[in-house]
Amino acid sequence: MKRIMNMARLLLFLALAVSGYAQTVASSKEVEAVYPAARDFYVDLHENPELSSHEIKTASKLAARLRSLGYEVTEGVGGTGVVAVLKNGAGPTVMLRTELDALPVEEKTGLPYASKVHTQDDSGHDVPVMHACGHDLHMAALVATAEIMAHSKASWHGTLMLIGQPAEETISGAKKMIDDGLFTRFPKPAVGIALHVGNGLPAGEVGITPGIYNTNADSLRITIYGKGGHGASPQATIDPIVIAARTILTMQSIVSREVKPGEMAVVTVGYVRAGTKNNIIPDQAELGLTVRTYKTDVRKQVLAAITRIVKAEALAGGAPQEPLIEHYESTDSVFNDPALAERLRAPLEAAIGKENVITTEPITPSEDYAFFVEQGVPSLYMSLGGADPQKLAESRTSGTTLPSNHSPYFAPDVDPALRTGIKAEVAVLRNLLK
Ligand SMILES: [Zn+2]
Ligand SMILES: [Zn+2]
Repeated sequence: MKRIMNMARLLLFLALAVSGYAQTVASSKEVEAVYPAARDFYVDLHENPELSSHEIKTASKLAARLRSLGYEVTEGVGGTGVVAVLKNGAGPTVMLRTELDALPVEEKTGLPYASKVHTQDDSGHDVPVMHACGHDLHMAALVATAEIMAHSKASWHGTLMLIGQPAEETISGAKKMIDDGLFTRFPKPAVGIALHVGNGLPAGEVGITPGIYNTNADSLRITIYGKGGHGASPQATIDPIVIAARTILTMQSIVSREVKPGEMAVVTVGYVRAGTKNNIIPDQAELGLTVRTYKTDVRKQVLAAITRIVKAEALAGGAPQEPLIEHYESTDSVFNDPALAERLRAPLEAAIGKENVITTEPITPSEDYAFFVEQGVPSLYMSLGGADPQKLAESRTSGTTLPSNHSPYFAPDVDPALRTGIKAEVAVLRNLLK
């Protein structure tokens, strides 16, 4: 008898636990009610991409939609940033972030809604523009989530803060929003949520990476000085191209010989600029580097090694002056709060199926979302599957890879990916705001 009682209590507990999560799940009726408008918005954004810091129409479209749903919307935060707040009684403030910007990439997907947009970039060059990173999908998901949350205020309480961040691709928009009072003019969130679509996971799945999610990124511009002259009279010159070549090769030993095996570090020289003509030795050479690491100490070690090698090679080559090393862009890795990641796993599983919530390895690209985390906003940054499941399976069998973000061929499998993004966001927000 006692055992039956215990069993009954267990069943009751399980039923309560399940219904607890069931309350966070967006019903298919809720999702389908907002889906057609979200998909139209996606197509509109995809056809009309705008470059970083120039997301003027994008921001105003997003703001108008959120305003029409009853959110208190502020535009022009940190440039073209949008902040939309919906207060719904006592409770925590939770932030959900989307990016606004597209990339100077010529779309080659062949989709009926492929971008044909060209514009002038900041240096006045004509460039094609494409949502090649999927930020259009993030905006569409956020708008649909905003609508579901606005129409189901009985399912949550607290303050929902949605932000549209400009200039993610230039690692500048998050900082600009913070400097413009994101966390002082508006409520400071107790928790932050973001996601990114990609072809690493099939559409329908969401990846969670507790702890370090992506890399520290550092952009360096190195100018090596020489002494120019006639290509036929090298004895009268100091050739900066030879010094640059040696510098590049010596830097290859940083990861292979100096960093502890197993630690993540990448040193890539993405461009070399020097010279104008075959028979002229130029008087300087420029290198552009990107450096990626997961850990702070490894990052310091690699940056110090680069500085040491650059200076030493210039000295060895007899350079007339010390090279100039400019550290012109950087961002820290995004840290996913491990306890938060574990807490949100259950509502995510309830929303999209246990088998569709995957624990994923940290990735090597970077993101300026880290600036929000550094302001003391514990966060979960999720990976949203974007690949056509069949194409992904085929590519895994054949050992090829699908087009990555930033590729002219990047085209997420929109319907399952967008629906999954909406379900994941609603589940997570309702859990945090219950
Ligand atoms: Zn990107
Ligand atoms: Zn992106």
